[in-house]
Amino acid sequence: MKYRLGVFRGDGIGPEIVAATLQVLKAAQERDARLRFEWVPLPMGWEAIRATGSALPESAVEALGKCDAWILGPHDSVSYPPALREKLNPSGELRRRFDLYANIRPARAYPGLPAVCPQMDLVIARENTEGFYADRNMAWGIGEFMPTPDVALAVGKITRQASERIARTAFSLARQRRRKLAIVHKANVLRKTFGLFLEVCRGVGAEFPEVEVEDYHIDAMTAHLVRRGADFDVIVAENMFGDILSDLTGELSGSLGMAPSINASATQAMAQASHGSAPDIAGKGIANPVGMILSAAMLLAWLGGERKDPAAGEAGQAVDRAVSAVLEKGPRTRDLGGAASTEEFTTAVVQQLSGN
Ligand code: ATP
Repeated sequence: MKYRLGVFRGDGIGPEIVAATLQVLKAAQERDARLRFEWVPLPMGWEAIRATGSALPESAVEALGKCDAWILGPHDSVSYPPALREKLNPSGELRRRFDLYANIRPARAYPGLPAVCPQMDLVIARENTEGFYADRNMAWGIGEFMPTPDVALAVGKITRQASERIARTAFSLARQRRRKLAIVHKANVLRKTFGLFLEVCRGVGAEFPEVEVEDYHIDAMTAHLVRRGADFDVIVAENMFGDILSDLTGELSGSLGMAPSINASATQAMAQASHGSAPDIAGKGIANPVGMILSAAMLLAWLGGERKDPAAGEAGQAVDRAVSAVLEKGPRTRDLGGAASTEEFTTAVVQQLSGN
């Protein structure tokens, strides 16, 4: 199959790690004639601000309508001009515009790399469109406001529809993995909102009798993850809890800086490394591209599943295996204690993938 892939290079180390990712995807394409990519380069971040005054030009958003999926480099939105900082940042805007409701964040330790929990291998399915991040909850206005200068209020939102679709994503993932799902909530305190989330997740579980279900209060879950992180397989959580837990699991499994993710709707997906634009090392050729490359591998796996395309699914697995092999035997980038440049590491992954 042929896929149209949007490519946003982004800010800071973005252009370097996105270039590395494209090299790996091109190598994946070369090893399998069934797989074809058409690249659609799109402006975002400072590149776009300089050209159009907007960090995410409307023309780029329109172009995504015709793409199967896209790769989003990191953005350095805290450095944008004040008027742009007031707006939702480019990744938030893309999640909202394309209803990318499922944020899938794996946390896996690698042999030979130090980790607090060396056996960790789990995936967090984070609901991306509502929950307790009040800024994305309203059709009109924002869900955070101040009746007086000394009182701040925020609105949380849980709906049956959004809970149901993220639960279905999570159970489907669990079914393909070790068949265990943990629902994270705080229904003992927020009885209506998290009560609904828990009830709906449990209800969806009835469609997946082969998956073992547990549920945990968010506070207890942080302790369980630190104490016995290797026991967990798939975790489903509301937006804010999922965001916080995935930083914890990213760090427990080795390095938050290497953690990949995708954000998916029913029809499209966006690959996005969980680290930021790392302006302190931008342009030096030393960034670790693993988070971005593995996010692209997840994108291939997602295309494989959604478009029922074995070639894309196999390519995703092959990229994943090639990265794991290079991480284990080296070369490694400086953040992992090695001396390799972004280019040297990427060349090693490409060679591994090409079987050289
Ligand atoms: P954001 O708020 O956008 O997440 P941040 O400033 O909190 O950004 P990062 O940009 O991720 O965080 O940078 C945090 C630290 O991690 C920096 O020292 C940066 O150099 C390092 N870092 C982040 N990503 C990478 C990477 N891919 N390779 C090497 N070092 C990285």
